Amino acid sequence: MNGYRDLRVALLGAGSVGSQVARLIIEQGDELAARVGARLTLAGIAVRDIDAQRDVELPRELFTTDAETLVLGADIVVELMGGVEPARTLILQAIEAGADVVTANKALIAECGAELAEATERVGAQLTYEAAVAGAIPILRPLRESLAGDHITRVLGIVNGSTNYILDRMDRFGDSAEDAMKVAAELGFLEADPTLDVEGYDAAQKATILASMAFHTNVPVDAVHREGITAITAEQIETAKHAGQVIKLLAIAERVEAPDGSLGVSARVYPALINRDHPLAAVHEGKNAVFVEAEAAGELMFYGAGAGGVETASAVLGDLVSTAKRHVAGGPGIQMSNHAQYEILPVEDVYTRYLIMLEVADEPGVLASVAGILAEQGVSAASVEQAPSKSSRDGEGPRNATLVIGTHTAREAALAATVRALDASDVVRHVTSVLRMEGN
Ligand code: NAP
Repeated sequence: MNGYRDLRVALLGAGSVGSQVARLIIEQGDELAARVGARLTLAGIAVRDIDAQRDVELPRELFTTDAETLVLGADIVVELMGGVEPARTLILQAIEAGADVVTANKALIAECGAELAEATERVGAQLTYEAAVAGAIPILRPLRESLAGDHITRVLGIVNGSTNYILDRMDRFGDSAEDAMKVAAELGFLEADPTLDVEGYDAAQKATILASMAFHTNVPVDAVHREGITAITAEQIETAKHAGQVIKLLAIAERVEAPDGSLGVSARVYPALINRDHPLAAVHEGKNAVFVEAEAAGELMFYGAGAGGVETASAVLGDLVSTAKRHVAGGPGIQMSNHAQYEILPVEDVYTRYLIMLEVADEPGVLASVAGILAEQGVSAASVEQAPSKSSRDGEGPRNATLVIGTHTAREAALAATVRALDASDVVRHVTSVLRMEGN
C-alpha cells in the first residue's frame, strides 16, 4: 500500500492504555504511515487472559499469551503491562534482538532505568517513556530535547492525580481528609490499595525520572526523600489558606549547592505550601502539571491530564511515531544523557522555608523565647502571627495561644533542629504543624 515498508509493532498489554494504543494504531493506520514513512503493523498483543473483557473491540487473532515469541519478531515493542517483571526481561530481550522500545512503565524506569539505558546504548537501540511521567503531558521530551542547551535549576511537579484530587477537595470544599479519600475512591481516583499514591511512592518514581533527565544524572529511586499526604489535616489546610497558600504534593528535582560549595541534585516528594498566585496552585482536581525553571528559558509550565487510557495513549503514540521515524531513518537511537553525574544530596542539605504552627503558653515573654530559639539555629522569622488557641477560647485548661511562624530560607537541617528545639522548650506546649514552602 503506497509502497510503504512495514514496521512490526508488538504490543504488551491491552488494559486501559494498551487497548487505546491498539485502537489508534489500527484506526489511524494510513495517517501514521504517512507521518512515519512506514506502515505500523500491529504484529500481536500479549495479555494474560485472551478472553478478558476489553475497553475496545480488537481483532481476536492479534491476541497471544506468548509475549516472548511476539517480542522477538518485532521492530518496535510497546510495553504497557506495568510492573517490573516480566516487563524488564521482555524489554531486555527485545533490545538484544534489535528492537526499539516504548513504555509507559514508571515503576520499571524508576527501578531499572540505568540498566535498560546501558542495554540500549550497547546495541544502539532507542528507549522512550514519555507517558511514564504525567500521562498525556509532554514533559520528558521537552526536558531531554527542547531544553538540552539550557541549564535546568528546578522542576516542581504535581504528578499524582489522586493526591491532588484529595488535597484539592480539602482546600476548596472543606472536606476532612477521610471524606476526600472516600470521594476520590468512589470516583475511581484511588487504586484498591491507595498506599502507592497517598504515601508518595508513585510521585517518587516520577521524581527519579524527572531528576535524572533534568540533571543528566542517574538518580536512583531510593535517593528520593519521600513523605506522603496521610498526615495532612483540615486544620493545616485552613492555616495554609489563611497564609495565602495551598498544600500540594510536589515531586521536586533541584540543583542544590552542597555544604562544600559543589553542585548536587536533590530529588524529593512531600506535601508543601505553594503561594496561591503560583501557577501550580491553580492545578485542580486530578490534573497534573510540571513547572520547570531554567537559567535561560526562565519559568515554563506544562499542564494537562496525568492519567486516563486514551490520554496516556496519546503520549505513547507520540513516542511510537518518533521511534518509528528514527527506525526508518536508520542509525543508532538517541541515548540518555547522564554525563553530569552530580552528587545526590540528602534532604538536610536543601534550602527551603517553613510554616510552623505552635501551641504556646499565653504569657509575657513567650514570643521573645521563641525568637531566641530560632536565632540560636540561625533561622530568621519572616512572619509571626498570634491567635488565642481553641482550648483558651473555649475557656478550658491553661491559657494557650497559637503561633504561626513563617521562616526565611534556611538549610533543612537548621530548620529541623529549630523545630526540635521548639518542641523541647518549656514555653511551647507542642508543635502542631510543620510545612515546607516551595515555589517562591
Ligand atoms: P492495566 O489496565 O492493568 O493493563 C495491563 C495489561 O497488561 C492487561 O492487558 C494485562 O493482561 C497485561 N498484562 C499484565 N501482566 C502481564 C503479563 N505478565 N503477561 C502478559 N500480559 C500482562 O494497566 P494500564 O492502566 O493500561 O497501565 C499500563 C502501563 O501504563 C503501566 O505501566 C502504567 O503505570 C502506565 N500508565 C498508566 C496510566 C493510566 O492512566 N492507566 C497513566 C500513565 C502511565 P490482561 O488484560 O489479560 O489481564
